Amino acid sequence: MLITDTGVPERYIDIDDWGGEVMLRLDDGWCAALDRDSMRCTIYEKRPLICREFETGSEDCLEERRGIATAYR
Ligand code: SF4
Repeated sequence: MLITDTGVPERYIDIDDWGGEVMLRLDDGWCAALDRDSMRCTIYEKRPLICREFETGSEDCLEERRGIATAYR
């Protein structure tokens, strides 16, 4: 969810069922701003606040990484 304006390009913004701005997701649920080849954020300098606060190496991060195999094409 986008709760502050960090400059996320409009093409990556979607509106959820409650009218809130969220990052656009692809059909498989992954963020549209993710480069699937490098697994890097293509808008890193403009990424949403929640992405900035997601701690690398935290339990949530490690849980996501355990399921990362499904992200590769
Ligand atoms: S950090 Fe990840 S989830 Fe956040 S905008 Fe970038 S690719 Fe999307």
